[in-house]
Amino acid sequence: MTENTADHLKAYPPTAEFAAAANADASLYDRAAADRDAFWAEQANRLHWHEPFSRVLDWDDAPVARWFGDGKLNVAYNCVDRHVIDGHGDQVAIHWEGEPGDARAITYAQLLAEVSQAANYLTELGLRAGDRVAIYMPMIPEAIVSMLACARLGLTHSVVFAGFSPSALRQRIDDAAARLVITTDGQWRRGKAAPLKEAVDEALIGGSHSVEHVLVVRRTEIEVPWTEGRDLWWHDTVAGAGTEHEAQAFEAEHPLYILYTSGTTGKPKGILHTTGGYLTQVSYTHHNVFDHKPGQDVYWCTADIGWVTGHSYIVYGPLSNRTTQVVYEGTPNFPDEHRHWQIIEKYGVTIYYIAPTLVRTFMKWGREIPDAHDLSSIRVLGSVGEPINPEAWRWYREVIGANTAPIVDTWWQTETGAIMISPLPGVTTAKPGAAMTPVPGISAKVVDEEGNPVTLGETEANGYLVLDQPWPSMLRGIWGDMERYQATYWDRYGDKGWYFAGDGAKLDTDGDLWVLGRVDDVMNVSGHRISTAEVESALVGHSGVAEAAVVGASDDTTGQGIVAFVILTAEAKNTGQDLVAELKAEVSREISPIARPREIHIVPELPKTRSGKIMRRLLRDVAEGRELGDTSTLVDPNVFEAIRTQKTNW
Ligand code: ATP
Ligand code: MG
Repeated sequence: MTENTADHLKAYPPTAEFAAAANADASLYDRAAADRDAFWAEQANRLHWHEPFSRVLDWDDAPVARWFGDGKLNVAYNCVDRHVIDGHGDQVAIHWEGEPGDARAITYAQLLAEVSQAANYLTELGLRAGDRVAIYMPMIPEAIVSMLACARLGLTHSVVFAGFSPSALRQRIDDAAARLVITTDGQWRRGKAAPLKEAVDEALIGGSHSVEHVLVVRRTEIEVPWTEGRDLWWHDTVAGAGTEHEAQAFEAEHPLYILYTSGTTGKPKGILHTTGGYLTQVSYTHHNVFDHKPGQDVYWCTADIGWVTGHSYIVYGPLSNRTTQVVYEGTPNFPDEHRHWQIIEKYGVTIYYIAPTLVRTFMKWGREIPDAHDLSSIRVLGSVGEPINPEAWRWYREVIGANTAPIVDTWWQTETGAIMISPLPGVTTAKPGAAMTPVPGISAKVVDEEGNPVTLGETEANGYLVLDQPWPSMLRGIWGDMERYQATYWDRYGDKGWYFAGDGAKLDTDGDLWVLGRVDDVMNVSGHRISTAEVESALVGHSGVAEAAVVGASDDTTGQGIVAFVILTAEAKNTGQDLVAELKAEVSREISPIARPREIHIVPELPKTRSGKIMRRLLRDVAEGRELGDTSTLVDPNVFEAIRTQKTNW
């Protein structure tokens, strides 16, 4: 990564103090390399098995793996019951913070009672192991209770982000043939109660062949349309059910959930995850990558349960490790931009896990906001979702982490289920912007078109990221479409049997791994392969630029031309053409004249998915003057109006 600053090569070793107390140590890599199966068996045995497994991996039906196939366990028992049985019933599991300022502390004993009630009532409704349940809820405790109740009964949940439209919800309900939808009357959005149940009704208009009941939690007390017989209030049903329920054991390959990807590269895919291997890897990575210490740490992952990060690192990973965590219902700037820092102060958050887009937003708001708070409790910082540009990495560490907290830049996907590539705090000497190394037990390669490993020489080497060994939390397919599963992930390197991640990556001269973003985000300019992430980093390195999105648009002379969209910082002066010329010069200087953008557009907003990722494929449509592709997972489809009006050619 070419950066003008003197410390661009600076790496950040762990302090001796952190290393001495860390959960992970370097021997994990050696042990995993020496005997991979034994290593994963050891990690699986961090869980409670109702019936032990005898075989670790069965890859005979590749690309559908069986992990711990003859073992039996219950996911909810592992996340809740066993902590209570071990004497930790009084430990807070969830410090829940509502958007309007209401709060609830839920202990493991209380969580067990609530999950048991929900499990008893879902059983009474006639739901049986293998049935599907759609969950369409804001970030309230009942959402987590619902997921755990499903897991407890062997029901397969499909969580649909509560910001999605009725038609997106309908599509997902139909795809999974859900028998039950769990929702709320409404949700708090910046101080206003917005309807949610109404969207479920709209999704079910004309009837759904599969949905028998809609279970509704009261959250905002707004009025809701009601269908007698079909609709049920949570407080009239679940809340009165028995608080005792005995968890049954299910096979390790029993389906746990279906979750749709965020759609940055096209139509969302219904990713299927199962139980034993999945829980093993989320639990293991949460323990080692975040250095989580049960009973001591206060952990906060700010994702929504509608995304895989919420599934793996709010619900299953943390709860399996007896975490005390913060769950927050609202947005970072309600009622004002101090909200996150107030929450960190209030609960003494020690581990904070967010997406790079949020780091850049905080940078845009200015450091005086976090500086006004005592953030000294923080000891580990995490990043996920996109490549984090070195500028944002350094800001995050300096301003939020007091220049001492290690940052774990975690690469993984909905499909991988759990973290795959990341530094280990206390072990890895981290570089700003690099995901560094596959975690112990995981194997990844950077290869060329033909599958040859890129060779490390004098300079860094770019290629495609592949996973050349099956891993416990890997997806077991695309729901209802195993052909697409094969075609999307396995055909590309079919002869080798490798999983094609769809991301570009590079190895630097030390052999450390940098994820560059999606393969279709790597541009080809006059035969040179340039990553959008690198050009964006150079642009964001300019003090006037808060965020940048770069795409390659077809170009008659160069094959592809670089088109950039930038948002300015609050202080920056928009001098139009002059600023654009300055930015182009900056990119030439920072990377190379070849990377100099053909066009730079100063825009008020960038199109983002609900999970905070920039939708480059849609910007490419704009840059090439095409009709927009699938916009169903976009936060605000109207941003294109603003982008089009402002987009003038310089
Ligand atoms: P779709 O697959 O439908 O296009 P999506 O890939 O955005 O959507 P996710 O599974 O949520 O949906 O995102 C996984 C992708 O996010 C990765 O493939 C990668 O491109 C990006 N990503 C996640 N974490 C990192 C990271 N730490 N560094 C770089 N990129 C990351
Ligand atoms: Mg993807």
